[in-house]
Amino acid sequence: MAQSFETESRKLLGRLRDTMAEDAAGQARLDKIVQLIASSMGAEVCSIYLFRDAETLELCATEGLAAEAVHQTRMRLGEGLVGRVARKRQAINTPDAPSARGFRYMPETGEERFSSFCGVPVQRLGEVMGVLVVQSRDARTYSADEVYALEVVAMVIAEMTELGAFVGDGAALSARHKQPVLMHGTVGQEGVVEGQVYLHEPRVVVTNLITDDPEAELTRLRDAVDRLRVSVDDMLNATPNRGGEGLEVLEAYRMFANSRSWMRRMEADIQNGLSAEAAVEKEQSLARARMSEAADPYLRDRLHDLDDLSNRLLRILTGQGGETGAEMPDNPVLVARNIGPGELLDYGKRLKGIVLEEGSVGSHAAIVARAWAIPLVVHAGNITTDALNGDRIVVDGDQGIVHLRPDETVTTAFRDKMAMQARAQARYASIRDEPARALCGSVVALHMNAGLMADLPSLPSSGAEGVGLFRTELQFLIRNQMPKRAELSALYARVLEAAGGRRVAFRTLDIGSDKVLSYMKANDEPNPAMGWRALRVGIDKPGVLRMQLQALIRAANGRPLTVMFPFVAQLEEFRTARAEFDKALERERILGHPLPERYEVGAMLETPSLGFSPDIFFQEVDFLSIGGNDLKQFFFAADRENERVRRRYDTLNVSFLSYIEMVIRRCRAHDTALSFCGEDAGRPVEALCLAAMGLRMLSMRPASIGPVKHILRRSNLDEVKAVIDGARERGEMSVRPAVMEWLRQRDWES
Ligand code: PEP
Ligand code: MG
Repeated sequence: MAQSFETESRKLLGRLRDTMAEDAAGQARLDKIVQLIASSMGAEVCSIYLFRDAETLELCATEGLAAEAVHQTRMRLGEGLVGRVARKRQAINTPDAPSARGFRYMPETGEERFSSFCGVPVQRLGEVMGVLVVQSRDARTYSADEVYALEVVAMVIAEMTELGAFVGDGAALSARHKQPVLMHGTVGQEGVVEGQVYLHEPRVVVTNLITDDPEAELTRLRDAVDRLRVSVDDMLNATPNRGGEGLEVLEAYRMFANSRSWMRRMEADIQNGLSAEAAVEKEQSLARARMSEAADPYLRDRLHDLDDLSNRLLRILTGQGGETGAEMPDNPVLVARNIGPGELLDYGKRLKGIVLEEGSVGSHAAIVARAWAIPLVVHAGNITTDALNGDRIVVDGDQGIVHLRPDETVTTAFRDKMAMQARAQARYASIRDEPARALCGSVVALHMNAGLMADLPSLPSSGAEGVGLFRTELQFLIRNQMPKRAELSALYARVLEAAGGRRVAFRTLDIGSDKVLSYMKANDEPNPAMGWRALRVGIDKPGVLRMQLQALIRAANGRPLTVMFPFVAQLEEFRTARAEFDKALERERILGHPLPERYEVGAMLETPSLGFSPDIFFQEVDFLSIGGNDLKQFFFAADRENERVRRRYDTLNVSFLSYIEMVIRRCRAHDTALSFCGEDAGRPVEALCLAAMGLRMLSMRPASIGPVKHILRRSNLDEVKAVIDGARERGEMSVRPAVMEWLRQRDWES
């Protein structure tokens, strides 16, 4: 019986392929498919419903129901049995449909005559595109084999839908991946850009879904799985020292790669007429559907592993590597599920925009995007599934909105907005060489943050007075191996030359947390952001720190030098680091190299503890720079990379501002120079409040200097301080509403 069914299923798929090869297009093609399925399965009705929009299913073809109902009968997701199949992503198989839970009678279809109902989702990779239904007069339950055959056929229909095989009159038949899609995400970096999609990991395209030579396909599958197993074993062997979770993940990989049931299911699919690729995709679809349902994070992770393995297997089978050969378009907008700072840096500044399906605003990848002033939207729907390489895309980083394949009206509106932004840029350019002198007479020094050689040309063009934060780790992140001292020293010398005598505050290596160097042994830490990172690594394993300090002194070659240590949590750490600097100076002196004519050695204040250090700390440190990104996450105990908690706490929260005020007061008492170099320094309203609290040096991404200078030059900081104090006295949680109101009254909201 199983054997004869196998043959039937294969025959059905074979006939389906023949139908696809015929000349018929659009609706005619779909009509033929439903006729074919109905006759092959001995059912009186076969219908295909496809999504017309995200919420509505439309009857697109039928054999057996009233022909007039095609493109007329619609139901919402979850409505009726068809809507329930789509929502649950599960088959419904019942001999008595009218009595089944959720049944909804559609009089225009004439379906009252039919008793049994079997509907399966038309889905690809966990994304439901519609529902395939067979119905019969007699009260029968379709066998497991028949349901299986329907699912296989539904998957082929999903692939065809995706490839635009049914493009026709109805909206539901317009080719998928041709319709405009609007997504609401979260603002990562402001700015508006129009460009073309460039997928970080292009999807593997499977076109041969059906086979009439199962033996050959089985051999292909087994060979590919063998290669997959070898590659997973290699991965495991390449990471012998990784204990804990990392190893666990790889072991889980190995377990899946060797799973007999996984293999058996795929082999059965091939026997039933699917190609090796289609069999892998079918399993992957199932895993994705389960992933979206799984509440248990461990199970979700494992399903994610399976998804990943399926991708690897598909790449082996199709020969489509990570590189599918897609050329980078002229105005590339990078689309990815997520991306690390190192990978982003590999793309360089060619990118015009970035859209991430996951990602987070506080991550270092986001900081790189901001440093480059590239519009970034994170948490953008299902962008990696919806977008194809080369699709037109508009990224509105101001609103956190993405328009994929926008229509003319949307494009025109955005072009107008871009023109307006260009006018604002012209306004900023006109004050570029003016100081940021507020109306009360106070002058705030505006510096820029940098980390790459490519950032330096922005120094003169932005109007920055210097580089308030040079993130040296970015140079380490873009390499595949540890840079040599001579290389670093040449690079730092070029930075100093490009700065043309302006101050550059070199921050020593801040690795750990989300900045992982591929060539350094990774540590599996439960909380990397609070783990062994930054100066903690520099103190415990001082080799790299020493090399870096030496490279900096040599690069200065007698010129003034500014060095700051990241993530100092207590006085002793600063003392140890400073002692390393002094030793490096001494070593260079003995070696006969010129010493900097002046130098300053400072610390970043990124942990609340440092602000409460003994007075002597403020006397010993040459300057302090508040790293607001980390400080805020530790002040509020809110992970800067976790969107859920990150936005709960406002920088303009009175507790945070009062803490900053205390640091300002203590620095003033000891005459210690103080600056602020976190991302908030580049946000005009935040910058205005920080200046009003008494900060006289702010360091930000270059593109923020114009807008921040503009707002400062039009404000009286004493007035802003009075507004802040008023809000504090009234016991308000954040001073933002009061400051915004004050700005509004001056018509500056824009
Ligand atoms: C900060 O924490 O505010 C900072 C400037 O350092 P980074 O963002 O590189 O951690
Ligand atoms: Mg930091």
